[in-house]
Amino acid sequence: MLWVDFLNSEWHDWRGSGRYEDRLDQPAVVEQLLKEHGLPSIPSPGAEEMAELKLLRFAMREMVKAIVRGQEPELEALELLNRMMARGPVIRRIVRTDERFRLEQTAERADWAHTMAEIAASFARTLAEGETSRIRICDNPDCKWIYYDDTRNRSKRYCDDKACGNLLKVRRFRARQKASKEHPST
Ligand SMILES: [Zn+2]
Repeated sequence: MLWVDFLNSEWHDWRGSGRYEDRLDQPAVVEQLLKEHGLPSIPSPGAEEMAELKLLRFAMREMVKAIVRGQEPELEALELLNRMMARGPVIRRIVRTDERFRLEQTAERADWAHTMAEIAASFARTLAEGETSRIRICDNPDCKWIYYDDTRNRSKRYCDDKACGNLLKVRRFRARQKASKEHPST
């Protein structure tokens, strides 16, 4: 999902070193994000566009945090999504292919206003049509990775069971071991 990849451009070292990278500042990462999601290739964002992108990301992350806590997202954040979407109108066309109809969507113009509208729309679509209860933040507090849990029994607690899942399992094991050494009777 576009919005998930966009939010995870804020990278935190899941191993707990405290290292943080803002990957929106890496032009190659941004280029790859656009390409992977079929968005038109456009020049790197300027200072003003970058500030808007980060504001959008901040607002969306706050919404995710509220949803994960079982709270309502702020109205202001919804309004920001609407403002971003209004700035990137699209043209829809229905085309007939051999077998069926296909709905195509193109940007009125390819620029950052359109790209931000697409990012906001991708999140808005999940809010409206997806299941907000599947929106998650990795249970590893150092990781903060955001994902959409599409497992059947909604049981995915970590971004990656092999990485964060294992790390936390080892930590819990060590904590139990330490506790039993300090209190041998238990
Ligand atoms: Zn994680």
